[in-house]
Formats: sequence, structure tokens, C-alpha cells
Amino acid sequence: MNSFEYVDDLGPEKVIEITDPKAGLRAILVVDNTACGPALGGCRMAPDVSLDECFRLARAMTFKNAAAGLPHGGGKSVIFGDPKMEGIRKEALIRSFARAIGEVKSYITGPDMGTDETAMAWVRDEIGRSVGLPREIGGVPLDEIGATGRGLAVAADVAEAAMGIPLAGARVAVQGYGAVGKWAAHFLAERGAVLVAASDSRGAVHAPGGLDLEVLNAAKAEGRSVAEAGPALEMDIVGVDCDILVPAARPDVIRADNVEDIKARLILEGANIPASFEAEQRLHERGILVAPDFIANAGGVICASVEYHGGSETDAVKAITERISSNMEELLERVARKNVFPRNVAMAMARERVTAAMSYRR
Ligand code: NAD
Repeated sequence: MNSFEYVDDLGPEKVIEITDPKAGLRAILVVDNTACGPALGGCRMAPDVSLDECFRLARAMTFKNAAAGLPHGGGKSVIFGDPKMEGIRKEALIRSFARAIGEVKSYITGPDMGTDETAMAWVRDEIGRSVGLPREIGGVPLDEIGATGRGLAVAADVAEAAMGIPLAGARVAVQGYGAVGKWAAHFLAERGAVLVAASDSRGAVHAPGGLDLEVLNAAKAEGRSVAEAGPALEMDIVGVDCDILVPAARPDVIRADNVEDIKARLILEGANIPASFEAEQRLHERGILVAPDFIANAGGVICASVEYHGGSETDAVKAITERISSNMEELLERVARKNVFPRNVAMAMARERVTAAMSYRR
């Protein structure tokens, strides 16, 4: 698809294709909308990223940042490459990418799938601008404090209070046991929930009586798959028997062809756009509550914004809890009042804020 074909009333403002043959760099930057402030959004590295994925993720950031009430617009960048490539090559690639976006002052990058705090330190070293930095250089390390996973658990708290979905004893399945997924499992376990299934790109593990998070975390820390840490799951994790499903890996994993398989009562969207629009509509009809990505997984970006504006780890935890609970409360109240499905309500909430910000512009 041609990049102009994505343009609507909100954006994108800029689409930049970046190459550096010497470093082997191929990347795309989408600055979607900056009415609320400079665009904030992560940099994803994967072999199969695309302009379409980048644009949709950038738009999701516009909505997420506006929904969270942050003084930031939305943008996203993608780098084509295997994130597990040799460290020295990865550093060269990220540094080359950083120099290329240096002049695009309307975009602040952060970590996403395939990039981390170290990568953001390289970007900051090159151009003096990035978020999600290591603690030693003033960062509030969002993956280290589990910012996004914490926010998902806060969204679950609100669902528990408003919809009577109990967390104590709830059986949780996490697709994508990475930075987001493992912390979601951790904070839900603190509330008495039990992780019964987890997956990563290499396989999945299943124990209806509960998995030991320490064993899974040790496997991941040693570079092994969760699949090596217990009995294998013999089916797609999306349809596993559980109360709470946390898709925390890739987009489009819940679709028309598997939506009927879902057994969970609550879906906490850790990943960005993990479900299709139609699938979310169907989940609503089936009485399954979806906490939409840009409301529920905003913990990371709230933390990044607090860091960018000079706040501390304590400020970040407070902001995540306050903003995600008040947004989820407003969302569920509107869902109940209007009987529309959550994504439509969330989009209306975000759109109202972006449009209001745009009205102040020339
Ligand atoms: P990560 O790289 O730390 O973890 C991703 C995990 O997903 C890994 O364990 C990987 O093996 C697994 N995975 C990849 N493909 C898979 C597949 N097909 N099936 C099952 N597992 C698979 O990344 P992350 O930071 O945890 O991000 C995960 C998702 O959450 C992404 O969609 C990201 O955009 C989104 N997100 C992240 C943050 C954040 O704070 N890190 C914030 C908001 C949204």
C-alpha cells in the first residue's frame, strides 16, 4: 500500500523510509499526529515488520497517548532485522537508525519488541533524545519495573470491581512471555491469580494446576524457551481453558477464525492490536470483556513520559495506577451505559482528546 493511502483526518504527518546500506539498515518511521505534543512511540525490530504494521502501531500510539492524557502525540518506527543478531551489528544498526531520525524532532523513540533499554541508551548517545533509558543515565527502566504488566493488572482490578471478575484464583494464560507478559503474570499472581499457560516464539507450556513463575523466569533468563520449563501445550494458547487471556506478543492473533475458541472471561491486551475489530465485536457479543490495548497497556508509555519529563520511579508507578484505573472506569461506565463494545468507546475517548488538541492548532 502507498503511504498516502493511510492518510485520514488525524494523520500520518510524516512517513519516512530509511536505508543505510553500509550498516545494513532498512527502517520506517511514521509520525502520526503531534497535536498533543511530540510523538512518542517505540522502535520495533523484527525480520517481518511492514509499513502497514508501522502505521497501525503509530495510530495506536496517537490514541494511547491521548487516552492516557499524556502531552504527546503518536508515532512508531520499525527496523527490519533479527533482534537476536550479533550485538556489535545490532548496535551499528540502532546507531545508524538514531542518526537518521535525529533531525525528526517531532518523534521521540522508545523500546518495543526487539529493542530494549540498552538500545535506547545508544539512541540517546547519538542524538540526545529517547525514552526507556537504563537507570544509570536517568531512566526509569520500564521493563525492569514491569510498567506495562503492572498497568494490565490495574486494568484487571477495575474489571474485578466493575464486572465481578475475581482475580484471586483466576487462571491466566499469557501469549508472549516477554517483558510485558512475564510482568503481567507476576502482578496478577500478586493478586492471587494462577498462571496456567504461557508461550513464546519457540513454544508453549501448560499446567492446569499452575506454573512456577520462577522456573519460567529462570528459563527465559538463560535464553531458553518457556516450552522447556514444563509440560508442552498441545494447542493454540488463544483457546486454552483459562479465565484471563493476556495476548502479549504480536498483532492479529485473535481473529474471526479463532474467536469462538476463546474460553477466557477477560482479555487484557498487552500487545498492540492483538485482535481484529470484528473479533473484538464478537467477544463483546459473547460477554467476554476486552480491556483494549491503548487503555490497558499504556503503563510503558506513561512511565516513559514520566521519565522524559524528569519524574522518578515512584512518580511513574503512581501515574500508571491513577491513569489506567480512571480510564478503565470511564471506559466500563460508557460501555455499560451505551452497550457498545470497548474498542469503540476507547476510540471515542481518545479521538475526543486528539480532536480537542487539534482545535488549538493553526
Ligand atoms: P518482548 O520481545 O520482551 O517479548 C515478546 C515475547 O513474545 C517473547 O517472549 C517472544 O518470544 C514472544 N513471541 C513472539 N512471537 C510470538 C508468537 N508468535 N507466539 C507466542 N509468543 C511470541 O516484547 P514486549 O516488550 O514484551 O512486547 C510484547 C508486545 O507488547 C508487543 O506487541 C509490544 O508492542 C507490546 N507492548 C509493549 C510494551 C512495553 O512496555 N514493552 C508496552 C505496550 C505494548
